[in-house]
Amino acid sequence: MNKKMTVHMFGNAHLDPVWLWNLRSGVDEALNTCRIACELLDEYPDLIITRGEVWVYKQAKELAPDLFKRMVKHVEKGRLQVVNGWMVQPDCNLPTADSFRKHCELGKKWFRDNLGVDVTVGYNIDSFGHNAMLPAFLNEFGFDSYVFSRPGQHEMDLPFLFSWRSVDGKGMVNALRVSGSYSVANAKQLHEINIRRALATANWDVGHVLVSYGYGDHGGGPTRDQIEWIMEHRDYSEDIEIIFSHPRKFFDAVKSSGVQLPVVQGELHYHAVGCYSVVHMVKQEMRRSEVVTTQAEGLARRFPDLAPPDAGERLNTAWEKVLFNQFHDIMDGSSIEPAYRHVGDELGQAKVLANEIITHVTRRQMLQEPPCEHQRLVMANVSNRRFRGLVTCEPWIRADALQSPLSFTDPDGKPVPFQGIVGRATGNHQEWYLIPADLGPFGKTAIQLRHEEPPAFPSTLKITEDSISNEHLAIRVNNTGIQRIHLGREEEPKDDEQRAKMKKDTGLLGSGGLLIVSFRDLTDAWSHGVTGFSDVCLGTFRQCGPWRVEDRGPLRATLANTFRFDHSVILWRISVDAGEPVVRMRLRMNWQGAHQIVKLVVPVSFKVNERLDGIPGGTLKRPLSTQEYPIQNFTSVTGDEQSVAIVSADCYGGDVQPDGTIRLTMLRCPVYANHGPFEVREGDLFPVTDQGYHEYEIALVVGKRFDQETIDAESHRQTNPVVVSEATLGMPSFHLP
Ligand SMILES: [Zn+2]
Repeated sequence: MNKKMTVHMFGNAHLDPVWLWNLRSGVDEALNTCRIACELLDEYPDLIITRGEVWVYKQAKELAPDLFKRMVKHVEKGRLQVVNGWMVQPDCNLPTADSFRKHCELGKKWFRDNLGVDVTVGYNIDSFGHNAMLPAFLNEFGFDSYVFSRPGQHEMDLPFLFSWRSVDGKGMVNALRVSGSYSVANAKQLHEINIRRALATANWDVGHVLVSYGYGDHGGGPTRDQIEWIMEHRDYSEDIEIIFSHPRKFFDAVKSSGVQLPVVQGELHYHAVGCYSVVHMVKQEMRRSEVVTTQAEGLARRFPDLAPPDAGERLNTAWEKVLFNQFHDIMDGSSIEPAYRHVGDELGQAKVLANEIITHVTRRQMLQEPPCEHQRLVMANVSNRRFRGLVTCEPWIRADALQSPLSFTDPDGKPVPFQGIVGRATGNHQEWYLIPADLGPFGKTAIQLRHEEPPAFPSTLKITEDSISNEHLAIRVNNTGIQRIHLGREEEPKDDEQRAKMKKDTGLLGSGGLLIVSFRDLTDAWSHGVTGFSDVCLGTFRQCGPWRVEDRGPLRATLANTFRFDHSVILWRISVDAGEPVVRMRLRMNWQGAHQIVKLVVPVSFKVNERLDGIPGGTLKRPLSTQEYPIQNFTSVTGDEQSVAIVSADCYGGDVQPDGTIRLTMLRCPVYANHGPFEVREGDLFPVTDQGYHEYEIALVVGKRFDQETIDAESHRQTNPVVVSEATLGMPSFHLP
């Protein structure tokens, strides 16, 4: 064991650009913190200050160039140390792998271009838990170490200093959980909380420990009394010295010690489990923004000659808006209500910029189609993954032509199956059509529209007033949702006895079937103090009338109904497409309620052997428990001969109970930014989150085995719809037989 311990003090100010205040206050705190840092560095020649996040440095560069010049000088001398290397300290559970990589890529580039430094210490000190793939993302971009504080000691049993390995085994960083608090107001707290706790947990074999000091937000940083206390206590005791230092220096000392650190693999959880779902809008709009910006970037890279000349600049701005709004108190849903109006505007800006590029490229592609005498629909896959499924098209068909026969053909003139569905226009004859497509990455095809009698298309689909089946499955609906999911082709009952038996059978579903339930949730916006939501059931959404058949055709069968619970209403559609082992649900919920959590509850009839969840860039096995987890794209349970996966890009958390019941969280509705112990009293008029309309697309992928390929394809289909443009080039006039 080492005889000496060096305490590396790193001065910092944790900044929340948006939280209990709006963005403009965040700009003030960034500028003031940078000013104070420069003053202190000038005043105390030995002091070192640690500062991360592109966004903070950018405020100084753009609004206070003289201040930024002073910062650059301090960086050059090594006295202003850059950590984090990302745009902000984001939520580390909910963004996609593409976003984490963009934080690394754009953040590193900005610091290299503007400060000439290569940042290698990852640093998300306040983020509410860290996903199990982060070490791999960090390694990919040259980061070798990581600083965090949550989950705290009471939330997860962890060594304070360890090697953190990604769940796929491909990435590893040395990680430190700071002891005490990352924000201390004075020297007394610094000594009594942070230093004492750090020394109590320090690894004496390593002989080095890292301690945070400094106050956060609104012009924060190290206080003079803290700096002077450190100067006075350099020789803390015979075997302990205290030095001004920084995380890079600390991790280098750890490496030099040659000590093998304990290895921890997987996710670092759990803090604030309510943040996986509160303020549904920000999470959903974020996912849409991430996907569309990724698509636009992929298209512009694949077809540079068809993209607008300034596509690069537009994409940079779009990514900046996306990444900034992944900041932990924004994307987690823990900010005040007015802040989210601006967040919506910024994500809107990102989506507009990305969508303009997609329109630009796909329309220029469409214009390259050779002349043709038929009206055509050009279908473009704007993603880097194969698309297979039904495409929704809305071709313009003149009202007088609607009476004549209609058919669609592929570019060789071969008829393709299609099905008319109800469009969104309610004032004219405009119909929408479903057409199957199989398009490679960034692939396209031109479907011709002809006024000819189409051939009959055989189909495996059957639909009645309460059931749908295809060659893979059969479902039956009831007054609370789906009562039965049967695996395999449904046989006609031979007699009344068999018919009665089938009526009672629930197939893969457990007793009660699939339903949507409201539970009491009296926790604050973060859900401090709980790890799950197993509280009192307040009620179940129930049908207002009988189910009705909405789509009946060769490609898709749909049942639709309206459901009600208390003052809230759901328009619920359940579809099965021909040839797919998937049940698709589209829900439009008008939610009016407070202090509740709404979950899609899916009990299963089989013994679950394994639960597997999607996380950013990978998958993770998790236990069956009452614990709420962040979920990306899917959660699944698999038994000996049965598997059910729930796939959705519109839900972000949930639990799988010890009996195997999946409970996907659809929304939570506490008061905005309510933080215990502040108590909201009866009659208080604080705004409540998640009121009004929410839309969900949720699919169940079922089979005998867990099927990652079908789950991934479904997730991709939900988020990356094919873009359709209409080509009339060369069409001489309207053709009627
Ligand atoms: Zn924070």
